[in-house]
Amino acid sequence: MLPININNKDFLILVVDDDDAIRFVAQDTLQDAGFNVIEANDGRDAIQKFSRYQPDLVLLDLIMPEIDGYEVCSRIRAMQGSETVPIMIMTGLDDAESINKAFEAGATDFITKPLNHLILEQRTRYILRTSTVLKTLEQRESRLENAERIAKLGSWSWDTRDRQLYVSKEFKRILDFPDEGNPNLSQVYENFSKEEKSRVRQIYQNAIDNKDKSLVVEHGFFDKQGLHRRLRHEAEFEFRGDQDYIINGTILDITEETYNKDKILQLAYYDTLTSLPNRTFFKAHLEYAVKRAKEKASCLAVMVLDLDLFTRVNNSLGHEAGDKLLVKVSERMLEAMDDPSSIKLSPAAIDPHATEEGTGNVLARLEGDQFVILLNNFRKLDDVILLIQKVFKRLSAPITVKANSVVITASAGIALYPVNGANSETLLRNADAAMLFAKSQGRNSFRFYSSEIDARSKERLSVENDLRNAIRNGELELHFQPKINLHTREVRSVEALIRWRHPEKGMISPGQFIPMAEELGLINEMGEWLLHEACRKTKLWNQAGIPPVRTAINLSALQLKTSGIVEKVRSTLDHHSLIPAQLEVEITENILMEDTHRTLRALEGLRSLGVRVALDDFGTGYSSLSYLTRFPFTSLKIDRCFITECVRNAQSASIVHTIIQLCKNLNLEVVAEGVEIEEELRFLLERRCDFVQGFYFSPAVDSDTFINYMNQKPWIDQMEDLD
Ligand code: C2E
Ligand code: CA
Ligand code: CA
Repeated sequence: MLPININNKDFLILVVDDDDAIRFVAQDTLQDAGFNVIEANDGRDAIQKFSRYQPDLVLLDLIMPEIDGYEVCSRIRAMQGSETVPIMIMTGLDDAESINKAFEAGATDFITKPLNHLILEQRTRYILRTSTVLKTLEQRESRLENAERIAKLGSWSWDTRDRQLYVSKEFKRILDFPDEGNPNLSQVYENFSKEEKSRVRQIYQNAIDNKDKSLVVEHGFFDKQGLHRRLRHEAEFEFRGDQDYIINGTILDITEETYNKDKILQLAYYDTLTSLPNRTFFKAHLEYAVKRAKEKASCLAVMVLDLDLFTRVNNSLGHEAGDKLLVKVSERMLEAMDDPSSIKLSPAAIDPHATEEGTGNVLARLEGDQFVILLNNFRKLDDVILLIQKVFKRLSAPITVKANSVVITASAGIALYPVNGANSETLLRNADAAMLFAKSQGRNSFRFYSSEIDARSKERLSVENDLRNAIRNGELELHFQPKINLHTREVRSVEALIRWRHPEKGMISPGQFIPMAEELGLINEMGEWLLHEACRKTKLWNQAGIPPVRTAINLSALQLKTSGIVEKVRSTLDHHSLIPAQLEVEITENILMEDTHRTLRALEGLRSLGVRVALDDFGTGYSSLSYLTRFPFTSLKIDRCFITECVRNAQSASIVHTIIQLCKNLNLEVVAEGVEIEEELRFLLERRCDFVQGFYFSPAVDSDTFINYMNQKPWIDQMEDLD
């Protein structure tokens, strides 16, 4: 509120006149009215007293010796802070010229002599009230200016009646306009790019058309140095009629705020390698999309996509190459998406107050070689399938990394909202299950989530949980399958094969739970148990008086890669006081492709302890003869599939024959796996194979059965039948 009533005793009035009588009358009148009064009897005295007492009003005579009233007036006006102090001229001169002159010198008003008591008092009150109002306004303005400066907030207003833009000092500072003058609307818009200009205009127009009370808009502009900055614009509308309104607005420079926010968002929501949105981003986005879809009763498709055999590429070509590959893959997927906004975070997904909302498709990297696509608002399932096919096609062209041409395929699983899940977590989980199913069905394909997959993944989940406790609950066992030496007709070696006796489900085969144990990170714990158990049983047989046998354990890639594996084997042998020659490890070919250096070091370490090393499943993997010389193998196991085929198929027969010959040349023991029938055994005997292992002689049996087997030697009769 501005002051309307004033209190006379709050004001000090300076009365200046060389005529004592007039001074006296004026003082008397004003003091009676309650004002405080001081006097000066000439110009010099007046100026001194003015600057000393800072009166609120000056009553000034014009005609005085030496320094006259005009001079006093201009000198007072020249003083700092005196601009608003009213000066009232007392004049007997009623000619217009002198009054004009006084105005020009800075006088505020005049009163004629001789002074009339009533008029003097009332005129003084009026003038003081006006000056008080002015002063208050001025104070407010400067306070506002300070506040704007401190807050870096500029203000402006626009009235349709005068079509004038009024702007504050800070407004001009923010937009680089000079302090003096008022820029017009088109000058302000000059700093905007064409798109931003029309966008902002449109937003204002919409607000006006809708008779909105207010709006907030953020937009870019270029400062005078040509640098791009950002402004937040808030405006309020006061409508008087349809096309008759006032807009009051503020502008705030949010360049830095935006930059910091962007940087934080980038770090929190994007993957540094591919620059794609990360899992956090995707989850936020999906949650938001589900909410929107619920409101609009629309559909969503979540597609999880996992590269096939990526670990193998990664391990054989190195992580740097793997990274490059992932970047390439992400680029190709983006291209297939056909929509550059598909990696843009919708602000509404993380900020409930955000005004912009994203409705496009989104591509994100979940982790490692796993990506995810959210399809928003597709019309029919065919659209989803088309997109997947497009992605698969894009991916399938060879990619060159480190001078290697790599072909990448992927497996994908899709879950649909609302049928396959009502929330983001379920949708992601089910898409993931569908992807795993696609993988298990032979890769390079996609699957929609179904009840069959649901059942499988539930089963898997329950088995996974059980596996965690299997070791602790003593549900794991080792069974042993003898290897028969065809030259000596003795059994001096045995393969340990793990078994899981599930309390409800019965025996579960290692092919099922070993990969699971690797995935769940249980393989090391399991491997350790297995090593101990194999050594313990071997020692037990030594003590039971059967001829010493060598026990082979199977090592998976992950186990071989754990640091300190050599040391672990050494200390376990020590612990059971077993000589290293009584232990053998079997590894498969695909291990050799991965992380070759480490594998070689580990195998050499084991060899130098005196532990033997067998190459398992020979012929099934990426058989490369160079492995046989590069790695310190002591024996080779021909895969069962060749043995089965060798009696029916000439080509397999010649392969088996060649492998046996090769082993002889390389001085490797050769073992035939999976011998089930007499013909196979005959064939192997004729080719002078060293060892056979298979159901023909014995399946894998528990330790007690094995001791019996060793004591009864049934293989001798079986061999004699052949002779
Ligand atoms: P593998 O090392 O090639 O083991 C041979 C598999 O063939 C065993 O299956 C064995 O029971 C089976 N087998 C032996 N003789 C015959 C035969 O005459 N005919 C047929 N049809 N099969 C025969 P199992 O025990 O189910 O093991 C499967 C695979 O699981 C193993 O293949 C091995 O890779 C893995 N595995 C088994 N035990 C372990 C273990 O303790 N640790 C690790 N890491 N892997 C293991
Ligand atoms: Ca084996
Ligand atoms: Ca094998």
